Amino acid sequence: HSNPEYQQEAGRVRVAVRLRPRNLEDRISDSDFADGVELQPELKRLKLRKNNWSSESYRFDEVFTETASQNRVYQVVAKPVVESVLSGYNGTVMAYGQTGTGKTYTLGSLGRDDASERGIMVRALEDILSTSSDSVEVSYLQLYMESIQDLLAPEKINIPIHEDPKTGEVSLPGASVVRIKDLDHFLQLLQIGEANRHAANTKLNTESSRSHAILMVFVRRSVQENGTDEIASQEKASIADLSVRHGAPIVRKSKLLIVDLAGSERIDKSGSEGHLLEEAKFINLSLTSLGKCINALAENSPHIPIRDSKLTRLLRDSFGGSARTSLIVTIGPSARHYAETTSTIMFGQRAM
Ligand code: ADP
Ligand code: MG
Repeated sequence: HSNPEYQQEAGRVRVAVRLRPRNLEDRISDSDFADGVELQPELKRLKLRKNNWSSESYRFDEVFTETASQNRVYQVVAKPVVESVLSGYNGTVMAYGQTGTGKTYTLGSLGRDDASERGIMVRALEDILSTSSDSVEVSYLQLYMESIQDLLAPEKINIPIHEDPKTGEVSLPGASVVRIKDLDHFLQLLQIGEANRHAANTKLNTESSRSHAILMVFVRRSVQENGTDEIASQEKASIADLSVRHGAPIVRKSKLLIVDLAGSERIDKSGSEGHLLEEAKFINLSLTSLGKCINALAENSPHIPIRDSKLTRLLRDSFGGSARTSLIVTIGPSARHYAETTSTIMFGQRAM
């Protein structure tokens, strides 16, 4: 069951760190291996070694070592968000980190041969589909260079974002929305989406790691109006409460976003030119604006700079307010990852 210590406070983004297990490449490159990071999961702490004499400690909401199972990561990081979506609130689970550190494994693994390898997307849908609801629908998108593409209908490109000026509700009028029959149906869609993503990126001559993949799950549930609604009583009024009254019971519409962010590695701008430079600028824009929004939420700032990029505009009604947000930052174990690991840890700390 979900971890009570990982209870979400209103507004703040909850941050967990996950370390990828060492692979062959790490072993080859780290012949004179010296650990730059040390995880202290029981203290929910991570130590970064600065030099031979000193290290700096950082606290997170949770710290997962390389032996943490997919199930445990799901239970701790995503389940509270899923539960809150099932109670009618919006929510977001995101993964941030350098390419190759496990974002897609954590979120999007299908676990075809071994169900224990399934990632957060599949586990979330499994939980949502096993709860009674009126409907469960999904859209699956890629955001590349400030352009939104439909991964379920690849001919749909440059999909505009619609923001309801009154409610703040975000929608994508052009994107396909597929009603999910069962978990197998969802697994098929994810597979189609992955294939389309691969094909689209080959055509654009880019890597999947240069774009954000966004799964949107729309849940409709009839709920009895209940004065003791635990979450509602804790929360201030929210832009994300999309309850629609149909007499009693009320139908609640809510939305879960699962976002596999573009690789956070710094691209050497001096060495890049033309298209690669443009690509790097757009990735930088979206990740930087996401960092600013996370920071603004942590500081209780009245101004969340949500309009700065398409990524943050998409998150507008699923981020802050009554929405639950979890960020998982993924890091690699090798000494060659050290500079990127440091910058990933700093990004995660902006929420704390
Ligand atoms: P990213 O999406 O961040 O670029 P991936 O999820 O593709 O990284 O992971 C890179 C490789 O490492 C993949 O082969 C993946 O299966 C493997 N991997 C990542 N995290 C884990 C983990 N926790 N346990 C086992 N294998 C992992
Ligand atoms: Mg990936």
